[in-house]
Amino acid sequence: MYKIRKTDTVKVIKGKDVGKVGRVLAVFPKLGKAIVEGVNLVKKHRRPRRQDEQAGIISLEAPISISNLMFLCKHCNRPTRVGFRLLSDGTKVRFCKLCNEVI
Ligand SMILES: [Zn+2]
Repeated sequence: MYKIRKTDTVKVIKGKDVGKVGRVLAVFPKLGKAIVEGVNLVKKHRRPRRQDEQAGIISLEAPISISNLMFLCKHCNRPTRVGFRLLSDGTKVRFCKLCNEVI
């Protein structure tokens, strides 16, 4: 079970985008990478394939290593470590190790 999931909010703690905060758009568990909105942008040259497509340079998010990210807790608003615990009905949930809230 991965600690970071799609739609989570994360903070970048390493690399060229240190300090940036964004929403996770996709997670690639096999690669240990994730795509975060507005983070690790790369410029791509695009050639129009159809008439209504615009040519030019567009910015796209490239995958960033999950180890460079930290979960941002929406309860205490701090970058935090994520823990797992089992509820009495057997459901596994994530919780914030700072404020103990289930996330
Ligand atoms: Zn918290």
